[in-house]
Amino acid sequence: MKGPIHIVVLGKEGVGKTALVVRFLTKRYLSEYAQTDEAIYERNVSVDERNTALRFTDISGKDVERRAANKEMISKMDGIIVVYSIIDRHSFDVAKNIISWLQRERRPAPPIPLLLLGNKCDLGHRRVVESPGLDSPDWQTDSDCFLRFECSACDDVDGVDEVFTKFIRKIQEKRDPSSKPPRKVNHHSSGLGSPTQLRAAIRRRFSVFNRDRTTF
Ligand code: GDP
Ligand code: MG
Repeated sequence: MKGPIHIVVLGKEGVGKTALVVRFLTKRYLSEYAQTDEAIYERNVSVDERNTALRFTDISGKDVERRAANKEMISKMDGIIVVYSIIDRHSFDVAKNIISWLQRERRPAPPIPLLLLGNKCDLGHRRVVESPGLDSPDWQTDSDCFLRFECSACDDVDGVDEVFTKFIRKIQEKRDPSSKPPRKVNHHSSGLGSPTQLRAAIRRRFSVFNRDRTTF
């Protein structure tokens, strides 16, 4: 059994790294977050109905590539999230530089899942970075490991959840290629067998319509 999934979150200060991680793990949005050099958040969450242990390392955006300790730490990660803000062009340049640095550092190590995440979509009227798909920078990445999405930590809890879940699935696939989300088993429709079993299944399925509404 492998330990928790380790994810590092990188990006310029103020883009919403802490807000995103806190939003995903607690579903809450606080609006002000302590600025620390490094914070670690650990929690078990349910991903595809599987209890999954996660550990996020949220490090300050300042000169991430200059600290030798960061290189060492990043080499042990299962996934990397690089965040920028769609209303801050410079934060997008910082994100691109971080990705180039990661590519240089990690070569020839096997690629690890990387998520480029544009935050603050609720401020679309102030957008200065094009949406994914319209903007096509020449990312020299392994496309199978590279995801790019946008979301808003501030007002879209479901969107944040969806993006993080897709990314965690990708990590799980890489860590254990045989892992697939468990299929939902429909007990009512499988193995009906004899006419008695079939009648019982039909009764179960439709009994709800026969009940008094007040019992719902
Ligand atoms: P970090 O330095 O990258 O960890 O950024 P923080 O998480 O501390 O967020 C910086 C500021 O941006 C805070 O004032 C947050 O309230 C704000 N912020 C974070 N996410 C969003 C978002 O999705 N939309 C808006 N409008 N503001 C956000
Ligand atoms: Mg922070």
